[in-house]
Order: sequence, then C-alpha cells, then structure tokens
Amino acid sequence: MSGNNHLFIPGPTNIPERVRREMNLPMEDMRSSQFPELTLPLFSDVKKVFKNKDGRVFIYPSSGTGAWEAALTNVLSPGDRVLMSRFGQFSHLWVDMAERLGFDVVCIDVDWGTGVPVDLYAEYLAADSAHEIKAVFVTHNETATGVTSDVAGVRAVLDATKHPALLFVDGVSSIGSIDFRQDEWGVDCAVSGSQKGFMLPAGLGFLSVSQKALEAAKSSRHMRCYFSFDDMIKTNDSGFFPYTPPTQLLRGLRASLDMIFEEGRENIFKRHHRLANGVRAAVSGWGLTLCATEPKWHSDTVSAIRLPDGIDGAAVIRHAYNTYNTSLGAGLSRLAGKIFRIGHLGSLNEVMVLGALSAAELTLLDSGVSIEPGSGVAAAINQFRSSTPIMGSEAA
Ligand SMILES: *Cc1c(COP(=O)(O)O)cnc(C)c1O
Repeated sequence: MSGNNHLFIPGPTNIPERVRREMNLPMEDMRSSQFPELTLPLFSDVKKVFKNKDGRVFIYPSSGTGAWEAALTNVLSPGDRVLMSRFGQFSHLWVDMAERLGFDVVCIDVDWGTGVPVDLYAEYLAADSAHEIKAVFVTHNETATGVTSDVAGVRAVLDATKHPALLFVDGVSSIGSIDFRQDEWGVDCAVSGSQKGFMLPAGLGFLSVSQKALEAAKSSRHMRCYFSFDDMIKTNDSGFFPYTPPTQLLRGLRASLDMIFEEGRENIFKRHHRLANGVRAAVSGWGLTLCATEPKWHSDTVSAIRLPDGIDGAAVIRHAYNTYNTSLGAGLSRLAGKIFRIGHLGSLNEVMVLGALSAAELTLLDSGVSIEPGSGVAAAINQFRSSTPIMGSEAA
C-alpha cells in the first residue's frame, strides 16, 4: 500500500524522526568510563517527568508490565493485603498479576467506563483500623476504556483516614502526556513504559519510587532477582546496570526527554487536552458516545468510542487497516467488538488527529454506521480553530 501507515493505537505511539535517528547508531560499550555521562542525567531527567524529587527511578529493560512486577515484588511481601479496583483490561491485568504473585487482593469491581472509586476506597480505608491494607492501587489512565482517575483524590482519602498504606499508580498511558505529580500526590510507586507518552519503542519500563517505598523495600520478603532494587541501586549509582542495558533505547530516551523539556511539560498537557477535545467533538458530531460515562472520566490520551449495536468492531478495525492503512485500537476483553479506540498521545498534532478522524469516518461510513459524511471531521476542525494557538502571534 502506498503512503504511510497511520498509527493511532494508544501505544506504541509515533516516534519522532529526531528520536528515531538518535537510536540509529553503532553498539557502544556499556562499561566504558563515558557511559555514565549518558545514564546519570537520564535518571535525574526521568525523575523530573514524574515530578519525583526525593526518591529514585529504576529503568528496566522491559515493557511497562515488568515495572509493575518490580514494584510489587520489591516493596511488598507475600500475603500482604492490597486494595485495588478493576474497570478495564489494564486494571484487570494488574489485579491478576498481584493475585498470581501471592498478594491478598481486595478488588473492587466497578463499571467499565468509570474509574477508581475514591469514595469506596475511603470506606475500606476507614474500616481498616488495624492497617492491614499495605498498599492502594490506582490505574491512572485505563487505556482500554479511555478513563482517567483521580490520583490526588486517593491521596486525599489516605490522608483523611490517616492510613499509612503505600500508593501505587500505573501511569503507563498517562505519565509524560497528562498531569502527574508524584511528590505532591504522595505516590510511592509510579509505573510507566517507553512506548506511549515517551515516544519510544517498547522496551524500557520505568518505576519511580518514593523514599517511603525504598524504606518499605528493605523489609520486603518477596522473591525477586532480575528486578531487584538492590542490584540496580548498586550499579545505577555510578551510572551502570546489573546486566546489559538497551543502549540504543537509552540514546533514544535522551532525545525524547530533550523534546519533552523543549516543548515544556505544561504545554504538552495542554496539547493533549486540545487534541482530545477535537476527538471528543468528532464523536459527538457522529452522534456516537464514548465508553467513559461522564466528562470527569474523559482521558486526554485515548478515546474509546462505542459502536452502534450490530456493528462489529473487529471488522471496523480490520477495514481501517486494510483499506485506509490506518491502525485504530481494538476493544479489549469484554469490550471486544463493541468499541474502537483512537490513541491521541505522544508525538502528534491537529492534522494527524484530523487524519485519524477522517480514516475513522470513512471506515464508519463503509461499515454501515449511519453518520453524516464530514460531521465528525467538521466538528473537530471547529474545535481546533477555536483552541489552537496561532504560531507567530502574541497568543502563541
Ligand atoms: C500499555 C499499558 C500497560 C502495559 O504496558 P506494556 O508496556 O505493554 O507491558 C499497562 N498499563 C496501562 C495503563 C497501559 O496503557
């Protein structure tokens, strides 16, 4: 097929040319005296993205799932009670991992399309006067449903109940793209991965931890080896790794962090909000609805769009790919076939989003969804025209 593939899945995301070129280099000596000149600033700069001043960050050669496992096995002990909630495939998978690793999981199931039930967390924490709950979990951005949860709200209920539990956050599809404040929100373990907001290939798992988590790790009795904090700390402090690090990904990370700081994190958050508003305007223009049930859950990094009954979501995704060379996200697990997703995070702009919306609109029309041609794209254009800063003007 001629032309580019248009990648609008919520990870892996589009890699900027500058980042891609930085990764195209010969292999280098990861034990050389110069290597720490690359790695030590990476550790401090990744911490800036998490807004973590006092703790430390671990960079694992893994996908985000590895960083989940690192958080659980280094900081907690087998049998520890943990409070979790499930409202989509990613929050489900973290619950599943915690169960398989031998934790005593208290899982609150809520409707898919909603997020972390802060009020219920408050009730569970208030009732736990013996402080048996050792950690509370938040999937900040549920990528399967396009729902963002209130991490600060969970911190507030921990504080209000004076509960000492640690706070674990999955920020794989949020950190770097939407507001996240590890220190201010008292997050003890924050997980991310390279292939979403960090605009890199998959292969780096980030785990940013507080001093409180490092302290808790000292008494953890869980088995671990590859993900051991101790092994990492021994070598990371001088800029090295306990095993071969993916040097090209680290070079790419240098470039992506430079781009993040050049644009400015607040500007990145605003851009994601603007682009997401364009997608949401298009969804309304089509007369369709989001999986997220209320505006307070709307995600600025991914939209999950419900399809009318009788339309097969898998066929819609396949048609977009085969006919329009466009990758849209599929419905996962219980949403399979019922929705499609547009990932709008990482390296992208208005025109790219309009491309995604055009492809989605063509595909919806071809699939027999009764929408007015142009209705979604026009709504997004109007949205962008009223919100995009005009470069070269004072407003920019
Ligand atoms: C992508 C994603 C993951 C899984 O990360 P991998 O890098 O695929 O292991 C976990 N949680 C959320 C919210 C995600 O979006």
